Amino acid sequence: MSNQQTEADLMSRAWVEVDPGAFARNLQAVSRAAPGARLLPMVKADAYGLGAGPLWRAAQGALPGDALWGLGVASVGEGEALRAQGWSGRILVCPPIPPGEYARAAAAGLTLGLSDLTAVRAWAEAARAAGRRLGFHAEIDTGMGRAGFPAEGAAAWGRQVLDAAGDLLEWEGCFTHFHSADEPDLAPTDAQAERFRRAVAELPPAAGRLLHSANSAAALRRAGYGGALVRPGIFLYGGAAGPGTAPEPVAALRARVVRVRDVRPGDTVGYGATYAARGAERWATLAIGYGDGLPRRLAGAGGEALLHGRRVPMIGRISMDVTVVDVTGMQVATGDVATLVGRADGAEITLESVARRCGTITYEILTGLGPRLPRVYASLNAGSTHP
Ligand SMILES: *Cc1c(COP(=O)(O)O)cnc(C)c1O
Repeated sequence: MSNQQTEADLMSRAWVEVDPGAFARNLQAVSRAAPGARLLPMVKADAYGLGAGPLWRAAQGALPGDALWGLGVASVGEGEALRAQGWSGRILVCPPIPPGEYARAAAAGLTLGLSDLTAVRAWAEAARAAGRRLGFHAEIDTGMGRAGFPAEGAAAWGRQVLDAAGDLLEWEGCFTHFHSADEPDLAPTDAQAERFRRAVAELPPAAGRLLHSANSAAALRRAGYGGALVRPGIFLYGGAAGPGTAPEPVAALRARVVRVRDVRPGDTVGYGATYAARGAERWATLAIGYGDGLPRRLAGAGGEALLHGRRVPMIGRISMDVTVVDVTGMQVATGDVATLVGRADGAEITLESVARRCGTITYEILTGLGPRLPRVYASLNAGSTHP
């Protein structure tokens, strides 16, 4: 899935720079904020677009002893990909799981999140076929509304789950997911946590007791809500997770200048010719476009790049493969490196600012970074931003 760095990438048109050390330090910060909890980093969507392999390796070295409980993913295929990369620890797949994937999940040694009785029965059947006990965590819906056993009636459905599991399944734990833990007001999250606590208290004694609820924001703001595990995602990848949380940046988005041109007043740029030079201007074409995941709407929303320590505005529309910036008055050459997200030469375009301009969240910007961009693993602090 993620592209590893190769010789050829060093001359790439555009790339994503990823700092595994910063990821590791963000993970340690979450661990410090939730002292009693073990870590279940969410590495779904190939680690939010940044490449799971190098980052779980960084996680292994970042935490003491058995503090790293396992890795969390959103699909069986993502679990299989982690196995192919060599991860032999636990993998929890978040539900719901499509009906045809249980046998594959068993073969890959995955632990499943299950969110209804049909799923418990399907997983039990997979265990029977595999000839060994398989583990699961029950998701309880406390307000997300997308999956999960109901928070009410846990005594009754808990008995049904135990019946369906029989000797075939090991019920390891229960979890819920918060919808608003990154909002200034934590009251809705506290209410979800209380619903979760009540449901768990109603479950039969044989139900799994490894409890977890906290995403990044909840882990950082309420010490993981007392769970045995915390499931951080966005904060590890450099995205803020609610008020007052400041991760280290982990990703930078860079692109090369592939053309510089001095234009005359009235010359136009891009589809729709939406921008015309107001005087004698100098334009630089950057080798990155919406086909790489640079959101097309960014150009019309004040989008900028950093070039030689200066902020230069995008002009016209972003094309699939290129973006043009106004570099009037600057010395710019083909091959120079522009930064679309991240730090360069003491300046910074934050991930948050790009997401805000695009009317979206940092998660969507990161996971939208396309497969055409090589992921290059390096320390962002080393200043080696020009491969
Ligand atoms: C994605 C996800 C997380 C991580 O959430 P962040 O807001 O990125 O920290 C945690 N738990 C579940 C179930 C998720 O799907």
